[in-house]
Amino acid sequence: MINFQYARANDVADAVRQIATDPTAKFIAGGTNLIDLMKEDVERPARLIDISRLPLTSVEQTAGGGLKIGALVPNSDLAYHPLIAQRYPMVASAILAGASAQLRNMASTGGNLLQRTRCAYFYDTATPCNKREPGSGCSAITGLNRGHAILGTSEACIATHPSDMCVALIALDAKVHVAGPAGERAIALADFHRLPGDTPQRDTNLAPNEIVTAVELPARGFATNYTYLKIRDRLSYAFALVSVAAALELDGSTIKEARLALGGVAHKPWRDPAAEAALRGQPANSAGFAQAADVLLRDARGYGHNSFKIDLARRAIVRALTQAARGTPQSQSNKKIL
Ligand SMILES: Cc1cc2nc3c(=O)[nH]c(=O)nc-3n(C[C@H](O)[C@H](O)[C@H](O)COP(=O)(O)OP(=O)(O)OC[C@H]3O[C@@H](n4cnc5c(N)ncnc54)[C@H](O)[C@@H]3O)c2cc1C
Ligand code: SF4
Repeated sequence: MINFQYARANDVADAVRQIATDPTAKFIAGGTNLIDLMKEDVERPARLIDISRLPLTSVEQTAGGGLKIGALVPNSDLAYHPLIAQRYPMVASAILAGASAQLRNMASTGGNLLQRTRCAYFYDTATPCNKREPGSGCSAITGLNRGHAILGTSEACIATHPSDMCVALIALDAKVHVAGPAGERAIALADFHRLPGDTPQRDTNLAPNEIVTAVELPARGFATNYTYLKIRDRLSYAFALVSVAAALELDGSTIKEARLALGGVAHKPWRDPAAEAALRGQPANSAGFAQAADVLLRDARGYGHNSFKIDLARRAIVRALTQAARGTPQSQSNKKIL
């Protein structure tokens, strides 16, 4: 048993004040990721600051017609919130494709953004891992890397970000609201998670003394032509090998606007403006979808066990865009399971 202190934050200002006084402290929300990491001795916070009772549990409409989602809204509540189900069903689909019902009841919106990679070497303290112990090496590059990244990798780390929800959020241009000692700021989700580079120990651009307070979605929800497609080893309770958030706005059979983001392929949810540009103004057909997939995957690189992901991603993109164009989202099967 490794000792740690526990304290509950009274409000956001108190949470920020507490974390500022102790750089080894960690916030705990639902605890579904952090407690696992502590049990495996991957994370050793000297102090846990419990933020689970902070009043960050509302889903509110914004003046601009969007939605502001409190950082402590549980994943289940968010997926079944009427405004999400009606206006942002791709977010609901993505959340329901992740974890299990019990986990989603505990998991928070903020914790989902900040969950850490599922790379097995990161969890195994007997092996080198630059993310866990900077400078020790990456066991995955020449090891078992079937689930690892094919885009945006570095010589230091080829881990993936495991969140499903974030893939839909990035496709929809979400923003993350944070608070810290210097006040509040908003970060585009596209700039929130980092590529590994030579600092894979840093997953995000959140400062260590900042707290996530909310996620904001803009008005445009792409509720008619969307799909969240998750390819995994089992139908449920498994992380994505490849996932695709695809959303289209159609004018007849021509694509007016396109959004395309991938999960399971990079250190961050992967969205590529060039692939979206390749779709805009084109007919919504499989030839155009395949071309956009080629654009998105132009720099993809396999590491042996995970090389199959490049072709899998290509086919998943075409299938997701085809489903989106037909207005047949993947979410239906997930809803039935629940
Ligand atoms: C068996 C299993 C299967 C899973 N399958 C999937 C899956 O298929 N898809 C998927 O997307 N997810 C999956 N998950 C992950 C799950 O979604 C995350 O564990 C969960 O979203 C984390 O939320 P939490 O509130 O429990 O975070 P916590 O564990 O409480 O915290 C996680 C991290 O976030 C930090 N943190 C939390 N809230 C804040 C905040 N407001 N501000 C700043 N820092 C904060 C904590 O300090 C910690 O570092 C799975 C988890 C398990 C255990
Ligand atoms: S891929 Fe990243 S997390 Fe996995 S062993 Fe290498 S450095 Fe560690």
